[in-house]
Amino acid sequence: MKFGGTSVEDARAFERVAAIVRAERRKNPVVVVVSAMSRFTDALLAAFERAASGEGERAALALEEHFARHTEVLRALLPETRNPEEVTAAVEEFGAALAHARGHVGLAFNDAAEGRRPLPLLQDLVVSFGEQLSSRLLARVLDARGLPARQVDARRCVITDDEHGRATPLKEETERHTREQIEPVIAEGVTPVLGGFIASSAASGETTTLGRGGSDYTAGLVGAALRSREIQIWTDVSGVLTADPRVVPEARPIPRLSFAEAAELAYFGAKVLHPKTILPAVVRDVPVRICNSREPGASGTAVYFDAEMTPRTVKAIAHKTGVHIVHVTSARMLGAYGFLRAIFEVFERHRTAVDIVTTSEVSVSLSLEDVGALDAITEDLKHIAAVRVESGRAIVCIVGEGLRSTPGIAGRVFSTIRDINVLLISQGASNINLTFVVEERHAAEAVRLLHAAFFECATSELLADIGGA
Ligand code: ADP
Ligand code: ASP
Ligand code: MG
Repeated sequence: MKFGGTSVEDARAFERVAAIVRAERRKNPVVVVVSAMSRFTDALLAAFERAASGEGERAALALEEHFARHTEVLRALLPETRNPEEVTAAVEEFGAALAHARGHVGLAFNDAAEGRRPLPLLQDLVVSFGEQLSSRLLARVLDARGLPARQVDARRCVITDDEHGRATPLKEETERHTREQIEPVIAEGVTPVLGGFIASSAASGETTTLGRGGSDYTAGLVGAALRSREIQIWTDVSGVLTADPRVVPEARPIPRLSFAEAAELAYFGAKVLHPKTILPAVVRDVPVRICNSREPGASGTAVYFDAEMTPRTVKAIAHKTGVHIVHVTSARMLGAYGFLRAIFEVFERHRTAVDIVTTSEVSVSLSLEDVGALDAITEDLKHIAAVRVESGRAIVCIVGEGLRSTPGIAGRVFSTIRDINVLLISQGASNINLTFVVEERHAAEAVRLLHAAFFECATSELLADIGGA
């Protein structure tokens, strides 16, 4: 059971989590994965940036309000034990954890300002205190509410390479360590509580992180390693919705998705799931369920191995902004081989993932999100061909099993957004998505128009098709 940041934003939220865990524990042994309290990761990252530019003291001060939120939760939720001595002891014990966090964050801030150690390494160390503290706090709260629980350090379970900020887990080590750390705790009848997102490097033992939103991925890894019956992602919406609710308020939950559909949606922008979450679940065939911690009775979205093709086919629309397109053009490409390899080697060298690729006779266009190495990539590509970069673009992705083999979908999509200029189109690489690029300023309108066309003519036939009737 993974609880995201908004599911542990304050004392009431922790209380809801305790109730949800209690209900599940009556039926099954539970392992809990928890994110940092809402907004804390952002605050830690902002403070780190400030500290690195020499404002360490102010940066540390800005974190105090967040440390205090943890103590508030503890104070609000412990009195139920009705034992004042126990409350004092627990607050003191947690106070020691906070002092430890402050100390290490302060040291990392100094090291960052003085350039003593690599910044990505120090940043991971600092940001890891979000999950280190939330997991300790949640274990304490569960335990105090009669649900025996213990914090397990996720860094001893999830073992990664040493790419700080977006580390890749090593499959076998992670499976082995996760089982070794967690199974004995479950055998004692105690609920293990792990921080999501944080891990450690196999090579150096240093703290690493799995990328923003990575707690979902931790849940996927842990659930797969333990061959869990189910992986539950508890968040602030009632499942994966037909579109991003911040853009389309009418979006509604999708009862069932295939692994491939969920992975595609996550990859192309549905923030509700980290793109890599589904991967370990697929390998071990563990179903994933996305549920709302504010509405635990809602059925949410179930993600299964089996593809379920519905007559209407389109299940959801995802989008992501902040996309760049790189156009690479060379007459040498005409009828030549080895050209694509040369281009992709550049991206590989700079460890940059490419999302969409289209080619014509003499040019290749690629879309990317991560522009950390864009200047270096452009320089390298210039040795091969002419390069042009377009920024401020957005990807829109229509997802549904069987999409490629259903006539008329592309026609319907592009006639719906006929007044919006489409810059790049990709379909056919998988049977389940139709993906295109538009200017960022048109993305929300495109998503709204498509949602209205595919989901808002609320006939009973349509509702039945998406399984919502
Ligand atoms: P958590 O803190 O629980 O990990 P996130 O904020 O990472 O939660 O993800 C949940 C949010 O994802 C929702 O509140 C919603 O705004 C956003 N979101 C974007 N696209 C979708 C979608 N297709 N379905 C559901 N939520 C979506
Ligand atoms: N706390 C981390 C983040 O905000 C990981 C997560 O919440 O999944 O990115
Ligand atoms: Mg998330």
